[in-house]
Amino acid sequence: MRVVIKFGTSVLTAGTQALSAPRMVDLARQCAALHHAGHEVVLCSSGAIAAGRERLGFPDLSETVGSKQMLAAVGQSRLMRTWEQFFDIYGLRVGQILLTHGDVESRPRFLNAQDTFRALLAHRVIPIVNENDAVATEEIQIGDNDNLSALVALIVGADLLIILTDQPGLHTADPRRNPEAVLIHEVERIDATLWAQAGGSGSALGTGGMLTKLQAAALACRAGTEVIIADGGETDVLQRLIAGERLGTHFRATGTRLENRKRWILAGVVNSGRIVVDRGAAEAIAKQGGSLLPAGIVRVEGHFERGDTVPILTDSGVEVARGITRYSADDLRRIAGHRLDEVERLLGYTYGAAVHRNDMILLGEGMG
Ligand code: GLU
Repeated sequence: MRVVIKFGTSVLTAGTQALSAPRMVDLARQCAALHHAGHEVVLCSSGAIAAGRERLGFPDLSETVGSKQMLAAVGQSRLMRTWEQFFDIYGLRVGQILLTHGDVESRPRFLNAQDTFRALLAHRVIPIVNENDAVATEEIQIGDNDNLSALVALIVGADLLIILTDQPGLHTADPRRNPEAVLIHEVERIDATLWAQAGGSGSALGTGGMLTKLQAAALACRAGTEVIIADGGETDVLQRLIAGERLGTHFRATGTRLENRKRWILAGVVNSGRIVVDRGAAEAIAKQGGSLLPAGIVRVEGHFERGDTVPILTDSGVEVARGITRYSADDLRRIAGHRLDEVERLLGYTYGAAVHRNDMILLGEGMG
């Protein structure tokens, strides 16, 4: 089985302010057991910023992007050195991959990243991924390692994504504020109620709360990957999950594994623009598998070019699909609301539909 495992900062620090050696060595031991059982293990490790903060003696810094990038630059090498040391104990080699959104957006770079993962796995090296925080500007930032881990699952075509955190899983409400909250064991379909339940954000050290975990789960499930959110402090959590024990929250994959190009479409959405459609168009796309026609477009937000992957949303903000646009944002604005046979007159050229059905991935209940 090919499995992507995400460790949140709170897991690696075991709830303290610094990386916890006992916790990390224990996780390395568990990963080694999986590896030796024949599984292909890919790690997505947070903790760079926390490690940098510790290394610099907990400096009193403003919460600017610049200081976070500095902390990540200092901490990333420390984080990797620690992993390297601990995996060494079990005779395992590791390789570092730092990604930003720009690396999954462009098709050639997506394929390059995929080749690197393949080569590492073929040589039985454990890839350890983090966001390239030191260089990621807002436009190319993924922003949290939950979504990063889902993108990694898409890149490697994972069977299973395990997101380890400091909570037992997804609850019906925030368990820290609401004593009535109960753990959800099994999610067949991520629906509107679940999005509402995941509402708030999480601990102070990491970036991701339950909302980003749900986004990650929705993304990975859509690509055909099973997802589990579980408590990283639970004894032998990884082996027990792989053995099928009922721990944490288990999300069933929606449908079968998507082929490579469709996984790239799912991963490659740009942060800078979106297409808002009317109800008729949303239904034609979602229920009848139609292409998106200019007539159904209500509004075009932000900037994108022809060939970019763009989210398609309803007016109420639900993402219905993602697809490769055949027109730039500026040109789409000019043809929005118009019939197909008017496009040539308005633009001086036509590529037909705004987003062709073959270049589109449907998202069911949306991505929150
Ligand atoms: N990439 C960040 C780090 O390594 C963590 C982001 C997150 O917590 O989701 O510190």
